[in-house]
Amino acid sequence: MPAIDDLKNRTTPVFSADDGASVDLGGRRIAGKGTQCERLVAAYGFTHLSAGDLLRAEQNRAGSQYGELIKDYIKNGLIVPMEVTIVLLENAMRDAMSAAAANKDVTGTNDNTAAVNAPATGNTSLKGKFLIDGFPRKFDQAVKFEEAVCPAKFVLFYDCPEEEMERRLLERGKTSGREDDNAESIRKRFRTFIETSMPVVEYFEKQDRVVRIRADVPPDDVFRATQAELVKRLGDNF
Ligand code: AMP
Repeated sequence: MPAIDDLKNRTTPVFSADDGASVDLGGRRIAGKGTQCERLVAAYGFTHLSAGDLLRAEQNRAGSQYGELIKDYIKNGLIVPMEVTIVLLENAMRDAMSAAAANKDVTGTNDNTAAVNAPATGNTSLKGKFLIDGFPRKFDQAVKFEEAVCPAKFVLFYDCPEEEMERRLLERGKTSGREDDNAESIRKRFRTFIETSMPVVEYFEKQDRVVRIRADVPPDDVFRATQAELVKRLGDNF
């Protein structure tokens, strides 16, 4: 298992497209990205990892060295220090690949979706490709992740006006049980997005690695637009 010291000293990525584990997408902004990720997994068999979910799981893990720190950052809508987030992602990628390899041993087939929902329908040519949700959100983590873990093909950016996002989040807060789905934390998250995450979108945009999708329209329309953009980007692989 990689540890933070190992990550700090590493300057070459451990995964590549040739390992069958290229990182493809990072959903951004609270604009129904959870729903879109679920639909992408169901349709194409991506291995879906959510940075926020991994952080919440680590926060709640008994005995975690970082539990209190993560809780504090999440409550304040701040970006958790990159080493913690990247190590959690790398571990989850390794686990998913091990599970897929074990599944291959048992079934004799190369089913890289073992760690995630099996695709219900449709094209499954993206089996084994990672869809990383809520990542990257800060410049340092974007650079370090590509340098030490895995280069990304592109970033999927769901764009939505703040008023609509706030409405959706407050609605979600009625049942989510999340400590950060309240008006104060939501405002802090928006500020963090503008100040810290938007520069990352601009950085990837300069390299033509951002797919920007309007998300203030019905979910079916968002999904259709996502599919159309993926076809453009992934061509025959899609
Ligand atoms: P999300 O589940 O994507 O809405 O994220 C909830 C919170 O988790 C964020 O406001 C951050 O505090 C933290 N978080 C999520 N993704 C990241 C990330 N890539 N890097 C650091 N912190 C993150």
